[in-house]
Amino acid sequence: MAGLMEKLAGRKDEDVMTGVLTRQAGTQKINRFIEKNPDMQCAFMIFDGDNFKKINDSYGHSCGDDVIIQNAKLLTEKFADKGIILRFGGDEFVVFYTNTDINEISSKLRELTMEENRAVMNDGKTVSFTFSVGVSMFPKYGKDFESLMKQADDALYTAKYEGRNCYRFNTEGMTMAHREQFMFDIEEFSRGMPGGFFVYEANEEERLLYASHSMAKLFHCDSISDFRAYVGNSFKGIVAPEDYERIQQIINKQQFETPQNIDKIDYCRYHIKCKDGVVKEVDDYGHLVHDRNYGLVYYVFLVDIHYLNTIKY
Ligand code: GH3
Ligand code: MG
Repeated sequence: MAGLMEKLAGRKDEDVMTGVLTRQAGTQKINRFIEKNPDMQCAFMIFDGDNFKKINDSYGHSCGDDVIIQNAKLLTEKFADKGIILRFGGDEFVVFYTNTDINEISSKLRELTMEENRAVMNDGKTVSFTFSVGVSMFPKYGKDFESLMKQADDALYTAKYEGRNCYRFNTEGMTMAHREQFMFDIEEFSRGMPGGFFVYEANEEERLLYASHSMAKLFHCDSISDFRAYVGNSFKGIVAPEDYERIQQIINKQQFETPQNIDKIDYCRYHIKCKDGVVKEVDDYGHLVHDRNYGLVYYVFLVDIHYLNTIKY
């Protein structure tokens, strides 16, 4: 009976989904450890999933859950030997790794951020994910959970700001993130850019993976779904049919037959036919990129070159 009671009490401290400590239990445990070992060098780390909302939006919430569980597993493998691991909330975990130094932590975090992490779903599909890490060293940069959290959080923002999938230590002279940067996400760009942009698969089908809301405007469509339907959800439907063959040749030549094009940028000009019949001439700047989930894709920026000529000042 005593064993069972202990087990139940232990369960209460565990995050139901991931099995690591809850925020409350973990915070208490870290504070207790700090009280007993005020001089031991330890690392306080916050792990936050990168673009986690996108995983939820693209693959569904239960897939997001699987990624969070996988994340907790990775942290347990890496830090359970002498670390206190807790789920702080959502896609955020805190690890307090005891009796360590910057070199040991750096090498562990380098491994974690260099490897491509993949979560396997129930249906066998795999989803790749990354996270960013903010670190503050105890006792130099904070003497309790709250102050360590604040310092590590600043470092986490810097890691996000400097490109994600990386770790940053809170140290003197650390670059502070310009937090306004986070106020502009793809949604704002999608509507605000003075041109359209889209991403499509670099294969026969040329399926559109992403299209900005400004593409709908460029094509005089009512909405993004209207635009996707109008162009058949493919790059083929974007280029006017009489230009298509020529454009394919230009892009292929620039991308695959020009060895000095190491940045994989292409440029071409063609016509597009808007939904209401208006014909426009556009400049297309493409960038061939390897995407972790989709393989080779083109990122394209499209501008109406005569726009300023069509308005009266
Ligand atoms: P960033 O790289 O800036 O961290 O972007 P992000 O999309 O990861 O943003 P943020 O960390 O602020 O948001 C985390 C999201 O995680 C918010 C919420 O939609 C989602 N989330 C929170 N808890 C859960 C959960 O238990 N399961 C799932 N599937 N999603 C969760
Ligand atoms: Mg996140």
